[in-house]
Order: sequence, then structure tokens, then C-alpha cells
Amino acid sequence: MLSLKTKLSLYFISVALLCVILITIMANIFMEKQFKQYTISNQEQKNKNIANLINQQYSENGSWNFDGVEEIGISALQEGLVLKLTNSSGETVWNASRHNHGICKEMMDNLINNMSARYPSWDGKFLSNEYPLFYKNNRIGTVTIGFYGPFYYNENDLMFIKTLNSIIVVVGLISLIFAFALGIFISHRLSRPIQKVILTAKNIANGYYSDRINEITGINEIFQLTTEINNLARALEKHETLRKRLTSDVAHELRTPMATLQSHLEAMIDGIWDADNKNLVRCHSETIRLGKLIKGLEELARFEGDSITLTMDNYDICSQMKSVLLDFEAAFKSKNVTVFFHGNPLKIYADMDKIRQVLINLISNAVKYTPEGGKISIDVSSNSKNAKITVKDTGLGISNEDLPFIFERFYRADKSRTRTTGGAGIGLAIVKTIIDAHKGNITVKSELKKGSEFAVTLPLCQ
Ligand code: ADP
Repeated sequence: MLSLKTKLSLYFISVALLCVILITIMANIFMEKQFKQYTISNQEQKNKNIANLINQQYSENGSWNFDGVEEIGISALQEGLVLKLTNSSGETVWNASRHNHGICKEMMDNLINNMSARYPSWDGKFLSNEYPLFYKNNRIGTVTIGFYGPFYYNENDLMFIKTLNSIIVVVGLISLIFAFALGIFISHRLSRPIQKVILTAKNIANGYYSDRINEITGINEIFQLTTEINNLARALEKHETLRKRLTSDVAHELRTPMATLQSHLEAMIDGIWDADNKNLVRCHSETIRLGKLIKGLEELARFEGDSITLTMDNYDICSQMKSVLLDFEAAFKSKNVTVFFHGNPLKIYADMDKIRQVLINLISNAVKYTPEGGKISIDVSSNSKNAKITVKDTGLGISNEDLPFIFERFYRADKSRTRTTGGAGIGLAIVKTIIDAHKGNITVKSELKKGSEFAVTLPLCQ
């Protein structure tokens, strides 16, 4: 199979070759046509000039200067014109074919041969035009000029055409060499980024997700292709990072309660600890931690399954929010958190249970990550298309490095922070999956040590 570079080169070269050949042929045909036109229109002028010159041969002396006439006649003959001069009585006083019969015949034969050789279809006929001659308003005779019509080329004309044709061919050849070089250059420019795309795609397939295409191209489609490949590599790299993180996180999360549980049980078996209520509660709390993690994994599997089924309904999100806030009343009180709520009845079209889960997750995070005495503001509003729910807190905030990953499963902004709060980094992944399934949107703004604001948009009722 031919490479793209070879194919493009061949394509450019054949197109260039075709163009150059076509231009050369067209230029040739056009030029000859123009020259023929010029020759035809020039013939009459040439004849008149000769007639004037002959007339001058009489005007200068008041009688014929035959030497001068002969000179003009011979030079006209060399241009393929046969002159015959008659006086006022109609008698021939000079005739090219009679006076110089040998040269005249040779010249004419030569002209016919040249024209027939170059233009096999040339059907030149011997024509003659008559031009009256005057001296002091008296007619002194007539000059008859014979020539091959409608057009013919003399030696000089043929030489001129030949030179012009050679120039066209040379220009054509130079253009061809130029087009050849340009074709190779362009195909190289076009194929280089594509070759880089192939190489990068191969590297990505082999697991080198950090590989990128840095080729600069001015071609929109190739630019889009390289951008998309880079995006693909970036997405795969991100997933790979998360996958590694997920494995190490799950292992770590499992290892800690398991190791604690094991050491507690060993202490009791070895008789170091009494198997009393206090120590059994310790062991129990570790099994609860394990249970929470497994529950989180199960929940995630349920929401991230191939098809999350929604039971859609029109209902008031504002009253749903109020009811969720009521459930958190005790948590707010125990942390001494002040809650501000603003919102009017607003109907949305959504799955009531799943949106409740979203609200619970967002509010529980706000409580979890807001220190004692903090504030949580909740707002329910709408524009013409969507309902907007914002949950804002004055909590720990999330760093800029963590923000892009916050909705990824098992991602925790600050591991030590969430380990104490018991979070496994699953809540927001579930929230995002539910919101996406509703064709809604979730965004987050946050500043470390100042607080976070989660904004959810959902379609209004239908
Ligand atoms: P978790 O169960 O660990 O809270 P989430 O998916 O709900 O998991 O949250 C993921 C991460 O986002 C957590 O590590 C937490 O640090 C951070 N986070 C979520 N909500 C907030 C918030 N309101 N303020 C500060 N950090 C938050």
C-alpha cells in the first residue's frame, strides 16, 4: 500500500503535469491564433506601405526610377509579396515574376513548402490586390501586389513563432519542476502531522497516555484531528490516573479498618484486651466503616450502570428542599450552623427520589465540610428554561488543583480531611450521574478556607 506522502506527491505531480501541459497547449494555440489574426490584419497595411513606396519612386523625379522599384520589389519578394507595376496605359513596366523569375519562383516555392510543412491543412491561395498610383492628381499607374492568402508566414514570422513556442515549452518545463518541488513540499507538510497522529495513536494504544501531538498546522481538519487525539489522550490519561487512584484508595480504605479490626481481635485472642463491651464496640465501628465503603461502591454501581432509569414527574423542588432541610435540622444544630433558605414554589420535571438524593448529598457535604458556627445558604430560582438550585457554605473550600476532579468517583479533595469525616469520595460522582441523566448541569466554585458553592440546573416542568 502506498504511503500518504507518496500518494499526495503523485497526486500533486500528476495534477501539476496536467495543468502545465494544458496551459502550454492552450498558450500555443492561443498565441498562434492571435498571430494569424495579426498577420491577416497587417497584410493590407503592408501592401499599402509598399504601394506608397512605389508611388514615391515616381514622385521624386516625375518619372519612374526603376532601380528603386526593383529594390522595393525584391525586398517585397523576400517577404512573400509579388509586385507588378503597370503605367497609366496599362502596360507592365516592372514585374517581379518576369524580372526575377528564378528568385521569385524559389521564394514562392519555399513559402509554400514552409507553410505546408508547418500547417498541413493550410489552403493558401494566390491572391492579388491593386493599388492606384497618383502624381499631382494624375493617375500614373497601378501596382498589383500578389500574395498567398488569407495568411502566410515568411521566414522571419516562422522564426518568431518557433522562438515563442520554445519559450512556452521552457516556461512549461520550469513550471513543471517548480510544481514538482511544490507537490513534494505540500505533501510533506500535509502528511507530517498525520504521521504524528498515527504515531501518537499507536503510543496511546500502548498505554503512553502522556504523549501529545504538538505539530502546528494551518489546515482546519488536521488541526481538529490533532486536537481531538490530544483530548482523547488527555481523557484516557485522566481515567488512568483515576483508575490507579481508585485501586489504591479502595485498597487503602479497606486496609485501615481491616488492620485495625485484626489487631483488636488479636489483642483479645492473646488476652491483652478483654473481650468486653468497650472493645467489641471498637471492633464494631470498624466493621461499620467497612460496610459504609461497600455500600458506597454498591450505590455507585447502581447509579453508574449502563442505563439509569428515571421516573419523571412534575413536582415542586422548593417544598422538596424544605423537607430535606428538616431532616438535617439536628445536624445543623449539633454543629451550630446557620442555614439561610430562599426560594418560592417552582415546578420541575425530574425523578423525585433521585433529586432528593442529590439534595441530601450536597447538603450533607456542606454540613460535613463547614466548621462549627458556619453558614449555609440555599437558593432555589429559575430562568425561562431551567430551575437553579445553589448550595453555598462557608466551609473548608476546595483547592484549584482538586476542583476539576471533584465529581470523579473516589476522589477526595483532602484524604486526611475526609477520612476523619468518613467520606469515600462517592457522593458527588452520584450527584453528577443523576444530574447528567436529567440533562441538567452541575458546577462548583470554591476557595480554600472560604467556602464552596455548588449550582445545579434542571429542566422546568413540561
Ligand atoms: P465524600 O463522601 O468524601 O464527601 P463526595 O464525592 O461527596 O465524597 O465529595 C468529594 C470531595 O469533595 C470530598 O473529598 C470533599 O473533600 C470535597 N467536597 C465536597 N463537598 C464539599 C464542600 N461543600 N466543601 C468542601 N469540600 C467539599
